[in-house]
Amino acid sequence: MRFFIIGFGQAGGKILDMFIENEKMRGSNIRMRWLAINSARTDLMGLKHVPVQDRILIGQTIVKGHGVGTDNKLGAKVAQEDIETILNAIDERGTHDMDAFLIVAGLGGGTGSGGAPVLAKYLSEMYSEPVYAVGILPAPEEGKLYSLNAARSMISLLKYVDNLILVDNGAWKFEGTSLKESFAKINEEIVRRLALLARAGEPIEEDVVGEMVVDSSEVVNTLRGGGISSIGYATTLAESSEKKRKGFRLFGRKEEEEIEALENDKPMKIATLVRRAALGRLTVPCNIHSAERALVLVAGPPEHLDRKGLEKAKIWLEEQIAGVEVRAGDYPTRRTKYVAALVLLANVTDIPRVKELQRLAAEAKEEAEEAEKMRMTKTIELFDEDIEPLI
Ligand code: GDP
Repeated sequence: MRFFIIGFGQAGGKILDMFIENEKMRGSNIRMRWLAINSARTDLMGLKHVPVQDRILIGQTIVKGHGVGTDNKLGAKVAQEDIETILNAIDERGTHDMDAFLIVAGLGGGTGSGGAPVLAKYLSEMYSEPVYAVGILPAPEEGKLYSLNAARSMISLLKYVDNLILVDNGAWKFEGTSLKESFAKINEEIVRRLALLARAGEPIEEDVVGEMVVDSSEVVNTLRGGGISSIGYATTLAESSEKKRKGFRLFGRKEEEEIEALENDKPMKIATLVRRAALGRLTVPCNIHSAERALVLVAGPPEHLDRKGLEKAKIWLEEQIAGVEVRAGDYPTRRTKYVAALVLLANVTDIPRVKELQRLAAEAKEEAEEAEKMRMTKTIELFDEDIEPLI
């Protein structure tokens, strides 16, 4: 699955930066393209792995490289003003061999929150490839303005994208750390999921064979329809049973045999891993029963993958989701010691955090309007003596 990734704003840029670093570290041979777009020069300068020529500073005539703060209306405006520059940069890099666009942005801020929907609108009009967005929702402690920004951005994005994959910072904040300290870890989790998704349909390493390969068109089919999606993920260490047995010397022979039998039940292990992915922490907490479609991807050393296990997992997922379409495949790779399972729950409709954000956004809008009215009345009251203005 070849993505043209656009990291929009600070969060989007940092996630793209980590994605590129991760691909380099893996020695990835998947062809992908990318761009980091921001209205704040310092944010762009802070990136380490996005090549300098792939960074675009927008809105220079309006905000002079200082960013738009948390004003996402201004974010949308500067994106609109510089849309030609952005589209030319995308066109120059080439899109003919890309499967989809993926815009990554924090929805609570200014540049990415306002700019992502503008870009999605143009991309969906100009290209036949699907346009996806990864939208990061603000944590509750960031306040109502962030909620209002996120609610506005989400509604706008949903008009233009083929799918909006949500990540909830609030649900992912790590115990005992501040939100800012959690960012790097959250970004790592996002990058892991995107990296596995990007492997769907891509050529596998030369000396391995895939049992059940999924094509990029199956990812596209899963994500079609313009809804909201959430991703589950789980991993397990792929140790050989030989190695593991050494750790069980304390048990008797019978127990050892039982453990080994369990160890060797590959279908069960794969099915359990997929179940853990689907029922564990999702990128945005949602009701799995409300998903329209699902896609399962399992990656790891080939001797740890199992077709029967995948089929078992598929049948289980079909029973869980509202619809009946579940696609499943694996990606054998020797470049890892882990087996990872990704479950993409597409077009989910029961997402409490989205409802809550809307409520907070409506409250924020009302309070802001009320405050403005009050300020106008009070200002007028300050000048209630009968004095003529000069001009
Ligand atoms: P922009 O540069 O104006 O687009 O604003 P940001 O990208 O900083 O967006 C602000 C929102 O994104 C807030 O809700 C932050 O919590 C969140 N955010 C900022 N940086 C990161 C990051 O590195 N990772 C994650 N997960 N969220 C971030």
